[in-house]
Amino acid sequence: MLAVVALGGNALLPPGSRGNPEDQWRAVNSTSKSLSDIIALGYDIVITHGNGPQVGYLMESFEYLPIDYPRQTLDLAVAMTQAWIGFMIAHSLEKEIVSRGLRRRVAVVPTRVLVSRDDPEFLNPTKPIGRIYTDIEAKLLAKQHKWVFREDPRGGYRRVVPSPRPVKILEVDIIRALLSQNTIPIAVGGGGIPVILEDGELKSIEAVIDKDSASSLLALELGADILVILTDVPAIALNYGKPNQQWLRKVKVEQLKRYYEQGHFPPGSMGPKVLAAINFTEKSGNKTVIGHLEEAIRVLRGESGTIVEV
Ligand code: ADP
Ligand code: MG
Repeated sequence: MLAVVALGGNALLPPGSRGNPEDQWRAVNSTSKSLSDIIALGYDIVITHGNGPQVGYLMESFEYLPIDYPRQTLDLAVAMTQAWIGFMIAHSLEKEIVSRGLRRRVAVVPTRVLVSRDDPEFLNPTKPIGRIYTDIEAKLLAKQHKWVFREDPRGGYRRVVPSPRPVKILEVDIIRALLSQNTIPIAVGGGGIPVILEDGELKSIEAVIDKDSASSLLALELGADILVILTDVPAIALNYGKPNQQWLRKVKVEQLKRYYEQGHFPPGSMGPKVLAAINFTEKSGNKTVIGHLEEAIRVLRGESGTIVEV
């Protein structure tokens, strides 16, 4: 049985942490225990993860470099977060696996994901990254680096980048080969490094792919038996945060689509997870489960969280 397990921000940083290494290790070590529980059940797993705070941190750090230093691009920053977070999970998980006597290796796969040049996001970027800038800063940076800015609801401006739909996971054959060697791949970190095909050549670009969307595509390409999305809420809710909030235990894809259209799942948080679940479950006929990281094993067994099925 193959499970693609997508980890959210809480797997990598405790809530409220500003991201010092000790906090990161604490979160990752606890995540390794949850992942090992799944492995101990007899599953083959592929691990995917987000990178929002980490890539934001890097891009912001670049801004503090002396003015005449080169700035690294967003695609390189995404690659850095894949190595950074991938290493932490691999290192921590390996220790946990060894201590439990489970015979597996862990390997990080820097992953490129093909997107379409014609994706509407390139004309109208929507994904905010990094900090809030003042009007003057935004104008300067827009000129300097050709960055696109949007007004932020909290005041000021934020850089926005395209968030194109993933089309193909370029390292899927390598991920498959690792699986066949009893090795746990960590892949499509942060949604993958976006690449386009231009004049017959692959080129990485400054964009970010949603990690849930990329995880869903990876699960389809691998023919996974289940997509497991672990986050910081117990399940998908209707009327989330309202007095009439209701957790969904089990839902059919068709019904979930209707709830989505009714606006229960905002973009940038639960929305992409629900779309990922719809995409995987509709196309594969297999289940998606969404639930709390700390309940991983119960989520996988369908005892906790939301089960999405055809
Ligand atoms: P991750 O970092 O795990 O990818 P996100 O922060 O992007 O997670 O999304 C999870 C968040 O979605 C939850 O913390 C919750 O506040 C929010 N959320 C919004 N709408 C819903 C909903 N309908 N049901 C459950 N959670 C929701
Ligand atoms: Mg989050």
